[in-house]
Amino acid sequence: MLDADFFRRWMAATAASVDREAEHLTALDSPIGDADHGSNLQRGFRAVTAALEKEAPGTPGAVLTLAGRQLISTVGGASGPLYGTLLRRTGKALGDAPEVGADQLAEALRSGVDGVMALGGAAPGDKTMIDALVPAVDALADGFAAARAAAEEGAVATIPLQARKGRASYLGARSIGHQDPGATSSALLIAALEEAAE
Ligand code: ADP
Ligand code: MG
Ligand code: MG
Repeated sequence: MLDADFFRRWMAATAASVDREAEHLTALDSPIGDADHGSNLQRGFRAVTAALEKEAPGTPGAVLTLAGRQLISTVGGASGPLYGTLLRRTGKALGDAPEVGADQLAEALRSGVDGVMALGGAAPGDKTMIDALVPAVDALADGFAAARAAAEEGAVATIPLQARKGRASYLGARSIGHQDPGATSSALLIAALEEAAE
């Protein structure tokens, strides 16, 4: 079973890998965006870390809804409301149970990803974070390692796609040939699940 500590470790591991990869994420956002994805997420996940320390939420659902709220209020870019919605919806779906099973987490994340698609209007293949998140959620039944591999493959598979949502879509066909920054950071978020479980 996964308790609030697991979810705190998940957010901490995400914050650490966002710190490590911030320059890379911003570099990916340079040719097809405005070169701020790494700094956006770094600001957001630092606020998540600070809020979790201060408020010490006691359930998995409360950890994720607090994290989502922080991302929405601190990240100015498109990714803030989108990641915020992902975590808030996932947290809401977990309810107030003190512990949840891996299958419940998979189901809750599915509703979080549905929330991101409803908010941003992106579908799989539009070269966004959805291209890492949907395969990850599909693979979650086979465990965190399988989800991580699926998310990483999904991020790499955005390279030949033309962006149809977000800033990169303004470039039309010139967005082809670049890996999507948001799909890349989504793979970090999913990979952090495996770290939290160790
Ligand atoms: P901004 O584009 O406002 O500078 P970021 O650079 O932080 O925001 O985030 C860009 C990422 O957000 C993109 O790489 C893409 O994955 C994701 N994104 C943008 N628009 C959408 C959308 N409508 N639906 C899903 N993801 C999106
Ligand atoms: Mg940007
Ligand atoms: Mg921006």
